[in-house]
Amino acid sequence: MLTKTLIKELNSSLKKENVLSELEERYVYSVDASNDPNIETKLADAVVFVESIEQVQEIVRIANKYMTPIICRGAGTNTVGACIPTHGGIILNFSKMNKILEINPENMTARVQPGVIVGELQRAVEKLGLYYPPDPSNLNVSTVGGSIAQNSAGARCFKYGSTKDYVIDMLVVMADGKLIRTGSNTIKNATGYNLGSLFIGSEGTLGIVVEATVKLITKPQATQVIMAYFDRVENAVTTVNKIIERQICPTTIDFMDKNAIQTVERFYPTGLLCNKECALIIEIDGYTSTIEEQRQTICSVLRENSASSIQYSRNKEESDNIWSARRSSMAACTKLKPNVTTDDVIVPRENLAKLVLGIQEICSRYNLDMCMVGHVGDGSVHPQIPIDYNDKDEYRRYKLAKSEIYQLTIKLGGTISGEHGIGLEKKAHISKVVEAGALDYMRQIKKIFDPKNILNPYKIF
Ligand SMILES: Cc1cc2nc3c(=O)[nH]c(=O)nc-3n(C[C@H](O)[C@H](O)[C@H](O)COP(=O)(O)OP(=O)(O)OC[C@H]3O[C@@H](n4cnc5c(N)ncnc54)[C@H](O)[C@@H]3O)c2cc1C
Repeated sequence: MLTKTLIKELNSSLKKENVLSELEERYVYSVDASNDPNIETKLADAVVFVESIEQVQEIVRIANKYMTPIICRGAGTNTVGACIPTHGGIILNFSKMNKILEINPENMTARVQPGVIVGELQRAVEKLGLYYPPDPSNLNVSTVGGSIAQNSAGARCFKYGSTKDYVIDMLVVMADGKLIRTGSNTIKNATGYNLGSLFIGSEGTLGIVVEATVKLITKPQATQVIMAYFDRVENAVTTVNKIIERQICPTTIDFMDKNAIQTVERFYPTGLLCNKECALIIEIDGYTSTIEEQRQTICSVLRENSASSIQYSRNKEESDNIWSARRSSMAACTKLKPNVTTDDVIVPRENLAKLVLGIQEICSRYNLDMCMVGHVGDGSVHPQIPIDYNDKDEYRRYKLAKSEIYQLTIKLGGTISGEHGIGLEKKAHISKVVEAGALDYMRQIKKIFDPKNILNPYKIF
């Protein structure tokens, strides 16, 4: 009964085609890239497509009236269940708020709506000689709003940082419908608390981002990608620090283990060397005149550390080829079993080798296939585990392995999420890594921002 009145009110506030309430429509929006069927969900009552800030405010007013949750949704590609509805409510879909409102070359900023695709923003600013570095591997689908809410990073984080390092200002609709501005259109800002940083990584639980201004940098003149293969994982991982010791700062230092290489080559062949134990993918950038020297220094470090084969790109097509191999690893894993799970544990770089070898040992002990990729320059890895959720025994082994991977990560001084967030999937584990006092402050912040628990409730904690 309540649902009927709610839908009626949504229909009177938005265009008819912007409100979906059929069962199959709501079902489509009950999943994201986390895909664990054992997460309990409750279908949303409606999915709405908003086209303006005022409409977002109106939906928040309605949600308050019916005391029903609002779950923001970008492309639904987060891997932790961050936009899965668990208590019904309204899915706020931003795919129609997808305009780049302004690119200001003088200020080196871009002002965008939340539904803008990260890759589209990158391409638009690059036409003007500018650069937006945050690059989640799925940048051709993930949205600016979603990547702010998850504080997404990606391969270039090693040199350029993550989403939080680029958002300088936001317009945010709060749980009571008020619109606030969090920063300013300036590169520096020391005016009061850094309120914006609370929303970045908050998974849509504290406020609804309806506009963002991001800082841009100058587009590097040239880039080159080096792919180095190793016969021992330890050698590859040690090389990461050896490169840094030579005072070279590559854009990325990424990793693929043997299983990842072989799986990608089986389903999306690009000519990877399948007999090697692992590979590092190192991208360098800068003035054209510096590339050769950077490459030579890195290649000599790679040789000194027993790289058994070194290749490098000579043009953009060859660079794209290497990156497409790395970026298709998760898609390739989905071909092995009906489902695939991923993770994003991270440790201080000094403990990286122990993490990589430890995860391989845990997965092998639990008889699980695992393809590991990762942004090893940051100390972060993605163990991707293909799985058949209908196989109860495999699921049990997967859960035990996952728990051990977290224990190992924590023992090595790391944390359970470097870039994917907590959502529903990891909330049972957050207290193992965030101490009780800090968690308590986080909960209090949630209460102050959202006293009625309307915004994406029951996520993170
Ligand atoms: C194949 C693959 C590769 C990936 N690679 C990477 C990677 O390299 N690095 C990385 O960091 N991540 C990676 N991810 C994770 C994912 O890309 C990020 O979490 C992503 O940026 C989420 O964007 P989205 O638009 O899909 O957001 P969604 O999944 O739709 O939403 C994510 C969260 O943001 C909230 N939200 C969405 N819009 C708003 C808004 N306007 N205001 C407030 N809250 C909002 C949602 O409620 C949800 O909590 C990968 C995922 C996949 C499937």
